[in-house]
Amino acid sequence: MKILVTGGAGYIGSHTVRALLGAGHSVVVLDNLSSGHAQALPEGVPLVKADLLDQAAVQEALSVHQPDAVVHFAALIEVGESMSQPGRYYRNNVVGSLNLLTAIAQTRKIPIVFSSTAALYGDAEVSPIPEDAPKQPTSVYGETKLMTEQMIQAFERAHGIRSIRLRYFNVCGAVPDGSIGEDHVNKTHLIELALLTALGQREKMMIYGDDYPTRDGTCIRDYIHVLDLAQAHVLAVEALAQGAGSSAYNVGLGHGFTVREVLDAVDAVIEGSDYAPLTRELAPRRAGDPPSLVADSSSIQQSLGWKPEYVDLQGIIQTAWEWHRTHPHGFQD
Ligand code: UDP
Repeated sequence: MKILVTGGAGYIGSHTVRALLGAGHSVVVLDNLSSGHAQALPEGVPLVKADLLDQAAVQEALSVHQPDAVVHFAALIEVGESMSQPGRYYRNNVVGSLNLLTAIAQTRKIPIVFSSTAALYGDAEVSPIPEDAPKQPTSVYGETKLMTEQMIQAFERAHGIRSIRLRYFNVCGAVPDGSIGEDHVNKTHLIELALLTALGQREKMMIYGDDYPTRDGTCIRDYIHVLDLAQAHVLAVEALAQGAGSSAYNVGLGHGFTVREVLDAVDAVIEGSDYAPLTRELAPRRAGDPPSLVADSSSIQQSLGWKPEYVDLQGIIQTAWEWHRTHPHGFQD
C-alpha cells in the first residue's frame, strides 16, 4: 500500500514511517517542518513540504501521489501552550484536519488513521480508562483532538471515509540503535526533559504539583514506547485496508507511573555513568494537567492483535537515553 503520512517528520511520525516501510508499504510524508526534521526520514521517502492550512497543497498531494490510506499526525501537541495560545491550536489542529478531510472527501475517500490522545478523557473517573469513558478534556489540546475525532465521524457518515482513531497515552523511547528520537522545538515532555537535564543542558527538573490525589501527589501517566505505538498504526492501516469498520482504540500499557517514579527510573538508567542524579524542585501545577491517565488497551489487543514489546519503564527510558546521549542536540548533531 501507499500511505500518506502527515507530520511524518515528527517524533511519532518518523518512527511510524520506519515501521510502515518495514511492513512493506510505501510512504509519502506531508509535513510543514515547523517542528519535524527532514533528517528523521529514511533516504528515498518523498517529502511534500506543505501546511495542512494550505488546502490546495493538501489536495494536490493526494492527487499527485494517489495514496491508499492516510495516517494523520500533523498537529501542535503541547497541553500548556494550548491553554495560553488556544487560537493557534484550534486553527492548526481543527482547521488543518478539516482541510485534510475535505481534500480526502473530494478525491479518493481513502481511510484515515488519526493520531488522537488520552487527553480527551480529561479527569477520568475510572482507571484504567476504557474507550467509552466520558470525553471531558481539561485542555484546549484535548478539545482539538476530540473535535477532530467528531469531524472524522461526521465525514464517515456523509462521505464514507472509514477511520481508526488511536488515543495515545504518554509516548516515549526511541529506536534502540539511537539513530532517531524525540527532538521537539519546545521541550515539555517529562522524560525528554529529564534526560537533557541529566546531560547538563538544564539545571534541574521541575515537578509540576505534588498535591494531586495520587499515591505520591504527582500526576500519573501511562508511558508507552514509540515503536509499540508505531506498530499500532501499521496494524490499524492494514485493518482498514482489509475493510475493517471504524473504531477508536486506546494505546498504552495499562500501568501508570507518577512523575517522581519516572524521575527515579531516569536516575536508575543513568546510574553508574558519569552523570549525576537529577536535581528536583517542586513547582506549581501546570494548567490543563489531569491527575491520572492510564489506558485500558484491551480493545486494540483483541481487535487488532496489538501486543506491546516494551513493558519495562527503565528499558523504555534506556532507548531514549541512547538517542539523547549520542545526539545531545538532537538532529543538529
Ligand atoms: N511534568 C513535570 N515536569 C516537567 C514536565 C512534565 O512534572 O518538566 C509532568 C506533567 O505535569 C505531567 C507529566 O509530567 O503530569 C507528563 O507530562 P508530559 O508533558 O510529559 O506529557 P502529557 O501528559 O502532558 O502529555
